[in-house]
Amino acid sequence: MHKTILRNPGPTPVPGQVQQAMNHGMISHRGGEFKTLFKETANRLKPLFGTEQDVFIITGSGTSALETAIANTIFPGDEVVVVTVGDFGDRFAAICETYGAVVHKLEIKWGKACTEEELTECLKRFNHIKAVIATYNETSTGVLNPVEQLAKAVHTHSDALFIVDGVSCIGGVDAKMDEWGIDILVTGSQKALMLPPGLAFVSVSEKAWKIIENNQAPAYYLDLLSYRKSYEKHMTPNTPAVSLIYGLQEVCRLIEEEGFDQTVKRHEIMKKMVRQAIRALGLPLLTNDEDASPTVTAISEPADLSIEKLRTHLKQTYHIDFAGGQGKLKGKIMRFGHMGYCFPGDVLEAVSLIECGLKDLNHQFEYGAGVKAAQEVYLEYV
Ligand SMILES: *Cc1c(COP(=O)(O)O)cnc(C)c1O
Repeated sequence: MHKTILRNPGPTPVPGQVQQAMNHGMISHRGGEFKTLFKETANRLKPLFGTEQDVFIITGSGTSALETAIANTIFPGDEVVVVTVGDFGDRFAAICETYGAVVHKLEIKWGKACTEEELTECLKRFNHIKAVIATYNETSTGVLNPVEQLAKAVHTHSDALFIVDGVSCIGGVDAKMDEWGIDILVTGSQKALMLPPGLAFVSVSEKAWKIIENNQAPAYYLDLLSYRKSYEKHMTPNTPAVSLIYGLQEVCRLIEEEGFDQTVKRHEIMKKMVRQAIRALGLPLLTNDEDASPTVTAISEPADLSIEKLRTHLKQTYHIDFAGGQGKLKGKIMRFGHMGYCFPGDVLEAVSLIECGLKDLNHQFEYGAGVKAAQEVYLEYV
């Protein structure tokens, strides 16, 4: 027997209390008990999005929420700018192409965030942009885009909607959808929200509703107007993943118990712990401190060892599961997820196992230096 330690950037570990909540016996999704559950749970998501708008719950993976955003706002021939800093940005661009949009990609070097200036320069080149699309937290590279600044660029230099993929960070980082001017913000259940895969979430601004109400493109399962209509009756248009919504209720309770500000701070602390530890071990980081994500860290390959070999060795020998690279970074990086149900103690555990693996593979480093560096960061905050 062994215990697998999940340090992937999704799916992430599910708290025992959430597992238990999901064991609730099945109920009718059209009855009073469900309506009460739905009403209070959906409302409690608002602070995590930073919005007064409703947050709609779709049964589907995170991608279903990205697709919903596009299907409801984009008509074939519409011009969009997609800010892409990694693999998930590219996927969002692919969804836009599927829906017939004319896609202008603003491609940033992988490992870097997009700046307000870069987006401003790009927007000045076009006159009829319907939507600007960006990834808040690029999971493939461990980069957090400055979406507040990007929103400023969008609204200063265009009339476009600003659509943001928040899949691997909402619930773990600050988001102020209304204040910053995000028109559609989406996320999924299995990353920072500590749930199994299967739910997706979408919130929509007043400005985006006007576009959606007039959009002629067809959608059925992903039609936001039908979600809005059902929401008024505290329901979803089709059968939702009822068990996951019981789990979500418990997730909201856990975050409220910790205090969302503290949840955000915990992710910041873990980011610093991981980065200091990885540096102390003589492993390169893909991103600089300024662009680094609070929920996932990408570790590059050092000169004396194969990072993919380290990753598979850690999994086989120590049963700790890190993610590899995606797209053009496949085989070149190892990704350390530290989001959702992850605490400083879990970071110390993971760093110490990385040290065991590095020792086995004869990497040159000072034994214990990573754990010590992470402890020092943590102790500053205790
Ligand atoms: C995981 C992820 C997605 C896709 O979510 P699925 O649940 O796999 O469909 C999209 N965007 C980002 C940034 C992600 O991390």
